[in-house]
Formats: sequence, C-alpha cells, structure tokens
Amino acid sequence: MTIARSVLLRASRSAWLAEQFRQRAFARRAVRRFLPGEEMSAALGAAAEFGAAGLGSVLTCLGEQVRTPAEAAGVREHYLNLLVAVAARGLPAQISVKLTHLGLDVDREACLESVRALVVRAEETGSRVWLDMEEASYVDDTLALYRRIREDHERVGLCLQAYLTRTPADLESLLPLAPAIRLVKGAYREAPAIAYTRKSDIDRAFLQLAERLLDHSAAGAFPVLGTHDHRLIRSVGESAQARGVTAGAYEVHMLYGIRSALQRELAGSGTRVAVLISYGENWFPWYMRRIAERPANMWFVVRNLVP
Ligand SMILES: Cc1cc2nc3c(=O)[nH]c(=O)nc-3n(C[C@H](O)[C@H](O)[C@H](O)COP(=O)(O)OP(=O)(O)OC[C@H]3O[C@@H](n4cnc5c(N)ncnc54)[C@H](O)[C@@H]3O)c2cc1C
Repeated sequence: MTIARSVLLRASRSAWLAEQFRQRAFARRAVRRFLPGEEMSAALGAAAEFGAAGLGSVLTCLGEQVRTPAEAAGVREHYLNLLVAVAARGLPAQISVKLTHLGLDVDREACLESVRALVVRAEETGSRVWLDMEEASYVDDTLALYRRIREDHERVGLCLQAYLTRTPADLESLLPLAPAIRLVKGAYREAPAIAYTRKSDIDRAFLQLAERLLDHSAAGAFPVLGTHDHRLIRSVGESAQARGVTAGAYEVHMLYGIRSALQRELAGSGTRVAVLISYGENWFPWYMRRIAERPANMWFVVRNLVP
C-alpha cells in the first residue's frame, strides 16, 4: 500500500475532517463527480437515465457505523421506502447496504431483522439486496448474517474482497448456498498479515475467485464483477467463454462516475452492466476511499477550490 493511500484511508475515519469537508462548497462540488446528488430523488433520476440506456443500477444511501437504535431504524425505513420508489418507477434497480449502517454495532439481531425486512420487500418488488463488505473485523458477522438470511431468501447477494487472504476459504464455504457474489478488490486499510497489498496478487486472487464462481454457475452461483479493471473483466470473460458460460450468467458492476465510457461499451457488446449509484449526506469516508483508490482524484478536489 502506498503512503498516500494509507494516509487517505486513515483520514477517512476522522469525524473532524468529515465535518470540515461537508461544510466546504468546493468539496461538495468535487464529490459530485462520484454521486448525482445527496437526495434519493437524484439517485432515482440517474437510475432512470441508466435504465433508458440499457444499464441497471444499484442504489446505496451513504453512511456507516451508526451508534443508536433510532438511527439504524431510520436507515431501514429509508431503504424500505427506496424499494417502493424503485418499483413505482419501474426501474431496473437493486439496493446495496452496509450492515454497520443498519446497526450491526448496536444490535446484531435487530440488524438481521432489518436486512430480512429489506429482502422481503425486495422479493415483493422484484429487486435484490446486496450486502457490502466493510473492514476485515466485520467479515465474520457479515458472513453469518448472510447465511441466516440466505436460508430463507434468494434475493440477497454478498460482497467478497479479493485482497483478503481468507476469501477463497470463505467462498468455498458459501458455494453450497448457490450464492450471488459481488467480487471486489477491497477498499479498506488492512494489515499485510491478512491482506494482499500488491496489485498483481490482488488481481490474481480476483481472477481465481471469479473462475471458481463461474465453475459453479451451472449449480446456481451468480458472479458479479465489481471492478473498473477492463483487463480483469476481459480475462474473466475469456474464462467464462472457455467454460461455455454465457454472458448473461454474470454481471459487471461499476461505480457512478468511474469509467462511464467502458460501462456503456460493455453494455453495448452484450455484457450485463449495473452502475452503483451512491447518494446521501454522509459521503466523506466513502469519498476518501475513492480518492485513495486513485490519488490523482485529489486534483478534482483542488480544481474545485476555484468556483
Ligand atoms: C460495484 C462496486 C461495489 C463495491 N463494493 C465494495 C465493498 O462492498 N467493499 C469494499 O471493500 N470495496 C467495494 N468496492 C471498491 C473496490 O474494492 C475497489 O476499491 C474499487 O473498485 C477500485 O478497484 P478496481 O477493481 O476498480 O481496480 P483498480 O485496479 O483500482 O482500478 C482499475 C482502473 O479503474 C479506474 N479506477 C478505479 N478506481 C477509481 C477511482 N476511485 N477513481 C477513478 N478511476 C478509478 C482506473 O482507471 C484504474 O486504472 C466496490 C466497487 C464496485 C465497483
């Protein structure tokens, strides 16, 4: 991990910096590159545009590590309403949630019941709920919660991070559940004892995990490639072809505002693509992770210092 990335990821956890950034107009302007707006209506509007262009959407309201049951209940209500709004507009959209936003640190059972309520609403409205993966300390709880929900429900998917050395074993244990798995490289600051730090190691792990999922797609596993890495997407596409897996048997998900041309190009050539659209006021930690992925993004912040 580079020093810049490490510093940015440490900064992402500063409440003081978050407050400073949120109050500054230049920061609010810069963040608009990665989100269509802070309101749900902005996200729904963007999802409608993507839908018209043949791309799906995954909507997420930004926030994490809530501290009170009332906050967690508010987040659950927000997402329940979001699923209704998506259905009312007939959008090809799913949602993605962070368990700590739904109160994992406050009350695990209440968090489980909130996720269950969202998945039931997703079943009723023809959508799907994705569970984000947060820092490594949350992986065991996230896997346990996913397993409990998956016992009774299909419309739930789970994110796994290729940079964690434990992930191949986690995936093996999940394969009998015919899981929908969104593979990502991993966005947090993890110790080298538990996570690969070299890009080549992470990319190799990603490809191997994707191939393992493709091997099980006939048995119901559904791989989603959560990456903007066109080489990796191409390699997985070749692996799928070699296995006789059709293009519809997996999807590519990318973030709003990142490699938009590639999103449209892939969709145009028959790959199923969805764009993860984030919105909400609590964008600071998430935004810092986007800058850490590509420190050159800092220039957008600097450029926006001038109105
Ligand atoms: C749909 C989706 C869901 C995700 N969910 C999670 C999650 O739940 N948990 C988690 O830990 N991580 C999550 N991530 C983040 C992920 O772990 C990576 O940090 C992020 O996707 C960057 O890695 P990459 O795969 O795009 O590859 P990289 O090798 O980092 O990037 C490949 C290319 O994509 C472009 N690119 C990548 N990131 C940026 C950026 N920020 N700004 C501008 N260009 C960029 C650059 O051109 C770069 O060369 C998610 C990512 C996506 C796309």
